[in-house]
Amino acid sequence: MPKNAPAGFMTVDDALKLNKSEIRELQMKHQNGTKLELAEMLGAAKMFVKGDNDKLWDDEGTLHYDMIAGVGAIGMGNSNMFIWEQMEKVKHMPIFYALGYHNMASVLAHNLAITSPGGKLTRMWTGGGGGAEANEGAIKLCKMAAHGHRPRIASIMGAYHGKTAGSLALTGSEKWKKYQFPLMPAVNLPFGDLTALEDCLKTRDVCALFIEPIQGEGGIKLHPEGYLKAARELCTKYGTYLVCDEIQTGLGRTGKMWACEHDDVIPDVIVFAKAISGGFMPLAGYICTEELWNDAYGDPETCFHHTVTFGESPLACAAGIASLQYIFANDLINEAARKGEYMQSKLKSIAARYPKVINEVRGRGLMMGIEFQLAGKTLKEMVGNRAAAQEAIGARIAAILMNEHNVQVMFTINNPIVIRMLPPLAVTQEAMDYALKAFEAACAEVVVDF
Ligand code: PLP
Repeated sequence: MPKNAPAGFMTVDDALKLNKSEIRELQMKHQNGTKLELAEMLGAAKMFVKGDNDKLWDDEGTLHYDMIAGVGAIGMGNSNMFIWEQMEKVKHMPIFYALGYHNMASVLAHNLAITSPGGKLTRMWTGGGGGAEANEGAIKLCKMAAHGHRPRIASIMGAYHGKTAGSLALTGSEKWKKYQFPLMPAVNLPFGDLTALEDCLKTRDVCALFIEPIQGEGGIKLHPEGYLKAARELCTKYGTYLVCDEIQTGLGRTGKMWACEHDDVIPDVIVFAKAISGGFMPLAGYICTEELWNDAYGDPETCFHHTVTFGESPLACAAGIASLQYIFANDLINEAARKGEYMQSKLKSIAARYPKVINEVRGRGLMMGIEFQLAGKTLKEMVGNRAAAQEAIGARIAAILMNEHNVQVMFTINNPIVIRMLPPLAVTQEAMDYALKAFEAACAEVVVDF
């Protein structure tokens, strides 16, 4: 125990020696114990002690296959030693020097600019952490550039943009909004409805449209063919900024660097987080057009209006550069497209063999969703009613996969009837085939419920 510390103080070494029940006790006492209990009930609570690309080992030494990759945050694979080695190179740099010259942040910004759609999003802002905070940054950017003339922001029903106070207003699911009203003025538009979008933008009081090119938490939902392109045109017509939230879809996941490129769309802003740092560090932010940036923060009066302490962290930005480097060096964007096609075709064959269980397999690249049929009689009896059964089917299949087959997956939180698979982009053939076999076995097990 360190000198002068209060009795009971624990060190990193102490933490490493704790067993699962000791950790549980601390978590129940000092953290969100209810969340842990719920995870235990769903069979999702695990203690992983080692990772290597698509493999995870728990505290008992059991091997698990990772088909969720930290909900996309570990796109470059668990414990990616290449990224770690690049981060090691900056470990002696002071973390806070935001007011001076920052080599890592400026190079990350440069690299993101040259990989942005059409090379057009040339200004980068980074926050201190997660995706919701990055969306906060983009909200402020657009409001700033609109010079206060457009108070509302639009988003799409079912969307997930995070749970911070501002981002929550854009998240298109009521269940996360309890006791949070009044929220920032926002409008959640019906999914895939261009008429509703135009009616909304026509008012010219909407400063930005936030949209996920593929809804992640909404159930891996692709917009109708042509929707994103038409949305781009409507935004241009009515002077609304188009913000693509690529927190889950970006960095090669869908078989393009940015998912909006599938539709040939150049947004005004792309928001990134999750996989950008290889999952090692909190790193999130946005890239935007020169014009938009200049309208918002391009003068001495406003240039300090959204700064955060850890915004230019050299460690996080080095991880960001290394992640991009790793994507290109290993051709991971094309790999994601190729492997996604393989997995989706196999999943579709399973769906054809289990039509009573699976409604649809969809997605792009390695962002895949399996939507189940409305849960049937057994589950309904187990959980009481049809609505609850519908909510429970994804969790039930996820639990079978996680506990009986050691395959990590997760249902989508705004649409729990969908299970998603987002393996690391360098997922191995062995892991894909193992997970597919396990998935078919899980369908065989639940078919009696329908
Ligand atoms: N936006 C999208 C599309 C996401 O998928 C998520 C998280 O899943 C977020 C925003 C919020 O990110 P975070 O959980 O890092 O705040």
